[in-house]
This record gives sequence, structure tokens and C-alpha cells, in this order.
Amino acid sequence: MRVGIPKETAQGETRVAVIPAGVATLIKAGLQVVVEAGAGSAAGFTDAAYTAQGATLASRADVLASSDILLQVRAIPPSNGLHPGQTVIGFADPLGSPQAIRDVAATGAALLSMELMPRITRAQSMDALSSMATIAGYKGVLLAANHLPRMFPMLMTAAGTVSPARVFIVGAGVAGLQAISAARRLGAKVEAYDVRPAVKEQVQSLGARFVELPLEAADSEDKGGYAKAQDESFYRRQREMMLKVVAGSDVVITTALIPGKRAPILITTEMVEAMPPGSVVVDLAAERGGNCELTRPDEIVVHKDVTIIAPSNPPSLVPYHASQMYSKNITTFLMHLLGKDGAKQSSLTLSADDEITRETLLTKDGAVVHPRVVDLLSK
Ligand code: NAD
Repeated sequence: MRVGIPKETAQGETRVAVIPAGVATLIKAGLQVVVEAGAGSAAGFTDAAYTAQGATLASRADVLASSDILLQVRAIPPSNGLHPGQTVIGFADPLGSPQAIRDVAATGAALLSMELMPRITRAQSMDALSSMATIAGYKGVLLAANHLPRMFPMLMTAAGTVSPARVFIVGAGVAGLQAISAARRLGAKVEAYDVRPAVKEQVQSLGARFVELPLEAADSEDKGGYAKAQDESFYRRQREMMLKVVAGSDVVITTALIPGKRAPILITTEMVEAMPPGSVVVDLAAERGGNCELTRPDEIVVHKDVTIIAPSNPPSLVPYHASQMYSKNITTFLMHLLGKDGAKQSSLTLSADDEITRETLLTKDGAVVHPRVVDLLSK
């Protein structure tokens, strides 16, 4: 079987789905690998590095037409010329853009979604959402540090004492916990809040203070460990209670997401206006609408001396390591799909008996097969 790695075409996308080290893994498994010329250049991986690992280079049209399996960062919008028998793997935004999934189904190609990877121990090395959130959390802190007119660490110098930056992290999932670590490493005084009380100990173990809000979030977590959506009156009370913490912070980094839904608005204009002049808000939920009322994705907004930064694709700001981690995730997933018979098969057998395949498979044999997407399309 032949695996194709096209260059990403989405605006601002600098990652590549598979790095040269990943090519070596695929070839060892008995697959052929064809890479679109220049696919890795924005992430720092040259064509020569791919060919040195045994890949062949081809034009985009050749990669798309000749590959049995296409590995992409963003599988949507679909690459032109998909055909039956082909399998595409990548981020496909199935819950945000179900219509696009229907378009892929119409081509006859099978599509597997990286974002629907089940969060089970067996699939941890295939969990690209966690890898990308790790990068986002780290980079979010650096963006804040770069725009803040203050330093992060406390310094006692002959020229006086510099007080540490006060950083408040809203949402302590994968991105938030990484942001806490990065901000602590830079010497900031860090506080964090999450609607899931289970994360309190994790926050404290990283040296941050967990902000207790006397909010009753019945059912804050689903069985996958994700936050559940709350009603508007909950979010209103949350904003009221967070106002004081936000007003006392130099940096607010927001990461709060609800799978398949718009990100909740947790930082209002009024809260931004209560922050000290020169403060910075980094909204890492921008791709899903943002947690801050003033967020404008990929723009830097300055509102009454407070800077609001909202990168819609933070991993693309760290393309080398984002690609390295994604490549590991997607090649491990492909090895899992290949199973014992490996590359000897003429096409991938996608069996619904396997939990990982069943949870991620969106389209097969001309139809949308994932119940959550079918449900969204029927509305
Ligand atoms: P996410 O990106 O969907 O959300 C980010 C964070 O925002 C979550 O911690 C969520 O609780 C929080 N949030 C949502 N609404 C909020 C609100 N109103 N106020 C404050 N915070 C709010 O989630 P994620 O980071 O991808 O993962 C969440 C959890 O999933 C992890 O902390 C972990 O427990 C679990 N997880 C498990 C595995 C695994 O078992 N393999 C892998 C990754 C994550």
C-alpha cells in the first residue's frame, strides 16, 4: 500500500502530517511513502530529509491520485480527487462541519477523524488533541510574556525588587496544565480554575493555587473526562465570581472548551476593563469562538490598555515540534489500523469491532457512518 503526505493547504497551516522519522516507521512496516515536494518545509523538514528516509517526492496531483492512504493535519476541506478505496486520516472537524463530512462520503473515500480518538490508555500515543493542546499551552504563555510590559519572575536586585507577574489560567485541561507549568518555569505567581473539581490536585501539584468558586456544577464532567456544557445562569455566576481574580491578574490565559460546542464566554469586556493597564489576555479557545468577549481570532486587539491575543492555530506557531508530535500520533494510529497483516493487504480493513476504529471512522463506502455526525446532519 502507498501512503501519501500532501502539503497542507489551509491558510496559516505550517505543520506537516508526517516528519522524516515517521516515514522511516512506515517504510519499515512495508508501506511505500510518497511526499508532496515542499510538504515539510514550513516546519523545518527538507525534501532531502524525506528522501533520505526512503520516501519519493511527487507533485500534489500525483500524491492525491496514487495514494491508498492520505495522512494529513487537516483532512477538511477534502483534497480534490478522492476516490473509493482511499482512506484519509486527519483533523476533520466532524462536529463543527458535518456537511463537509457528507461531501467526503460522496467521494467513496473512508475518512477517520483524529479529534474523535477515544481517551483510553491504549490510544494515548494516538491522541493528537492532547499533543496539540500541550503545544498551545506552552506557546500561549510565551505570547503573553512577550506582550506584557513586565517580567514574569520575582527579582531582587540592587535596583530594587521586581514583583512576579500574576497569571490566571482558566480551564486546567491539557493546555491549561501545560500553561501552568510554563508560567511557573518563568517564575510567575499562578492561579487556575476549572469547572471540573477533579483537577484541583493537578493544579496544586504544579505549584499553582486552585481558585475555589462556590459554584454548584452538577455533572461537570462526562465519562470521557471532558467538561459538560452548563446553562447560561451558571456561566453568568462564574463570570461574577471570577471578576475579582481577573482584576488582580496581569495575564489571563483561557483554554475552556466543551467538545462539539462553541467555547463559553467567560471573560467579558467589563472584566477586561478591570485588569491593570498593560495586562494581557491570551485566548487559546479562539478556534472555537473564544472565551473572551473581545476576542478576534488571529488579531491583536488592544482594549483600554489591555491586549487580547487569540491565535486560532497555536500549534502552527511551533511547527517543528507540533509536526513531530502529530507525526507520532498519526503513524501510531495507522500502524494500529494496519494490524497484524500490515502492509500485505490491498486496502485498509476498517473494522467496527475495534473501539479505536469505530470511534474515529466518519465515512465508509459512500456513507457517513459516525452516529454523532449522522445525528447532526439529520437536524
Ligand atoms: P478541553 O480542551 O475540551 O477543555 C479544556 C478545559 O476547559 C477542560 O479542563 C475543561 O474542564 C475546561 N472548562 C470547560 N468549561 C469551563 C468553564 N466554564 N470554566 C473553566 N474551565 C472550563 O479538554 P482537554 O484538555 O482536552 O481534556 C480534558 C480532560 O480529559 C483532561 O484534563 C483529562 O482528565 C482528560 N484526558 C484524558 C486522556 C486519556 O485518558 N488518554 C487524554 C487527554 C485528556
